[in-house]
Amino acid sequence: MPQSIERSTIRMIRDDQVPPGPVHVAGWVRTKRGSKKFSFVHLTDGSTPQTIQIIADAGLDGYAEMVAPLTTGASVKVWGQLVESPGQGQKYEIQAERVELCGLADPDSFPLQKKEMTYEYLREIAHLRPRTALFSSVFRVRSLVSFAIHEFFHKRGFQYVHSPILTTSDGEGAGETFTVTNFDLEKVPLQTSPGSGVDYSQDFFGQKSMLCVTGQLEAELLTFGLGNVYTFGPTFRAENSNTSRHLSEFWMVEPEMAFADLQETIDLGCALIKGVVRKVLEEAEADLEVIVKRNEVDPRPWLKMALEEDFKRISYTEAISILQDSGRSFEFPVAWGEDLKSEHERFLCEEHFKAPTVVYDYPRDLKAFYMYLNEDGKTVAACDFLVPGIGEIIGGSQREHRLDRLEQQLQAKGIDSEHMQWYLDTRRFGSVEHSGFGLGLDRLICWLTGMGNIRDVIPFPRVPGNCSF
Ligand code: ATP
Ligand code: MN
Repeated sequence: MPQSIERSTIRMIRDDQVPPGPVHVAGWVRTKRGSKKFSFVHLTDGSTPQTIQIIADAGLDGYAEMVAPLTTGASVKVWGQLVESPGQGQKYEIQAERVELCGLADPDSFPLQKKEMTYEYLREIAHLRPRTALFSSVFRVRSLVSFAIHEFFHKRGFQYVHSPILTTSDGEGAGETFTVTNFDLEKVPLQTSPGSGVDYSQDFFGQKSMLCVTGQLEAELLTFGLGNVYTFGPTFRAENSNTSRHLSEFWMVEPEMAFADLQETIDLGCALIKGVVRKVLEEAEADLEVIVKRNEVDPRPWLKMALEEDFKRISYTEAISILQDSGRSFEFPVAWGEDLKSEHERFLCEEHFKAPTVVYDYPRDLKAFYMYLNEDGKTVAACDFLVPGIGEIIGGSQREHRLDRLEQQLQAKGIDSEHMQWYLDTRRFGSVEHSGFGLGLDRLICWLTGMGNIRDVIPFPRVPGNCSF
């Protein structure tokens, strides 16, 4: 068997890209069973949820050293003949002619055995869980979705821009930021006048710096030079929310469009979600099958619905009426001016509309300073996308592009505009209405896969109290 033959992935074989005949694969043993005469090894290589069956004859050269010791998790390279399989559930199998054992996985200590493990336990061994069928499927879906998002924007002529991760602007004014400092924390310099706090002018950047909570403000600057843009990167929030939908480090997609109002942003969000759903249903069927088998929740009915139905669109004021008329007793109060909590959001999309729902025009006091003040003077042109099973996955708005209004808003929210002059310059020079949103990738993946906890859709979750791996 020539060792020079190029390696095929199991996916290539499954996709009929490899003709029957000589073949070379490499991967990890998922299961092995056998008799005195043969071993049947199911090999996985991460390229697809499917495995390929390797049949190794006990008469093979090196069988005792290379095949007999194989157990779940061991890595091997295999050369042989790709032949049609008489067995069910697979078109092809490989008759091994040469097996090279790369690394053993001692069954007494390798934690991933056949028995079902809890999600909590698997989180503790997040360095190994990509090797399980479930998590490799989840992470493949995540990869596919990321690609689909780029493809969606690329086809529509959006420029992909990189907003900074290190920043001195607290985009949301929420204060839930991680400070970045180079100070020796044992000897933090204080300002000379007593009681005036840390002297950040001596820090690395000469002022207080943070990890970004959003890339929106910078995306706004870029849309005025590049037309439609989007960012796609990690964002960081030091909110102490120990929920199944919050991470301290999560990935956000933030399109920004000049010359576009709130409705155009809502249209874009609907199209993006539908586009991603279509891609997942078309190309991740086998992965979804693996995921659904392990979970109680099957997302496919709601995905099909999201594809076929128009998303419901209601104003915040209408949403409050619906909640008040629902006859439900909610834990948190329902009244005009109160924020919608997860229970309210989920009632609207899961029970009332039974469809993805967009709520727009929120009270100005609930939302960030940069949102466009509507004619009524009470509401801003903001929108939240709510989906069954999750609640909010998108938050967006038309931006306040009128300098005087924006300055009033900054003042009303008690934000010092001195450090925001660069932002206000967009409104001073060639200002125009513009809008955009932030889509949380991780929440989107939860919704697409039916995974119940956001910690299980990102390889290495960062949450309060845990930054391992
Ligand atoms: P929530 O009220 O659910 O905390 P938010 O209003 O703080 O969300 P935005 O600031 O509008 O959210 O952010 C836009 C999107 O980013 C959200 O719709 C959500 O999908 C995602 N997102 C926000 N915070 C987190 C987080 N801590 N972990 C994961 N995704 C998040
Ligand atoms: Mn939040």
